Amino acid sequence: MALDTADAADQLLGEGDIPPVHEVNAAGASPFLLTSDHYGRVLPRALGDLGVAENELTRHIAWDIGIAGVADRLAEMLDTHLIAQRYSRLVIDCNRPPGAVSSIPVMSEATAIPGNEAISAGERAARRREIFEPYHHRIDATIGRRLHDKRPTVLVSLHSFTPVYAGVERPWHIGALYNRDTVLPQLLLKHLHAESDLVVGDNEPYAVNDLTDYTIPVHGEARGLVNTGIEIRQDLIADQSGQRQWAERLARIFAEIEMELRAERLVD
Ligand SMILES: [Zn+2]
Repeated sequence: MALDTADAADQLLGEGDIPPVHEVNAAGASPFLLTSDHYGRVLPRALGDLGVAENELTRHIAWDIGIAGVADRLAEMLDTHLIAQRYSRLVIDCNRPPGAVSSIPVMSEATAIPGNEAISAGERAARRREIFEPYHHRIDATIGRRLHDKRPTVLVSLHSFTPVYAGVERPWHIGALYNRDTVLPQLLLKHLHAESDLVVGDNEPYAVNDLTDYTIPVHGEARGLVNTGIEIRQDLIADQSGQRQWAERLARIFAEIEMELRAERLVD
């Protein structure tokens, strides 16, 4: 009974809050499985504004600006299953190992997050239990189901990055981000380099690693899936026209990559 009482006291989501997991095309036939860890910037009602000004809560520190519009369209164009997370990364970052300092950040870039200071172990656990875990359990179960059904499964983790971070401008339009996969990032980079109008980042603006990432190491590498991360610069996908153009470009490239993977029998 004591445990039940503690759980109820630390319940995070309640009436008026939306579920954390957003999905498109769960029955999609494509070998690609799209994820979006920083898709939304919703705050649970119980957390108010986390003590952060509204104009900060629309910045990149709260979510991956523009990626939702790209991800939804790309899922439709490729007939691909998308699993995305709607709550702000300021509540709990779904691409950080739980327990990492940046999982529930007290500072993001140069912005303090007062609502994340001095929170209890129970509050911390509630964010993990009610937001982080449903999202990652859904990805894990989806991959398990697909592998059980012997369906080819290629993980693509979608992100966007701010054009200027801590005063430093970033020249890349798009980057492939990876660690242990030796197949898909190189194929993707080959196709991106063939687009003459693009400045392409090879593990820029950052590389994937086990301390600062979760989705690719846990769902891609540990499950033995061909995988890559993608980062698109946010000013390019700030409006619907940019989101549509980038979804169309990526749909075209991924259709070609699928044929190459099948020809190499890396997907069949
Ligand atoms: Zn992101």
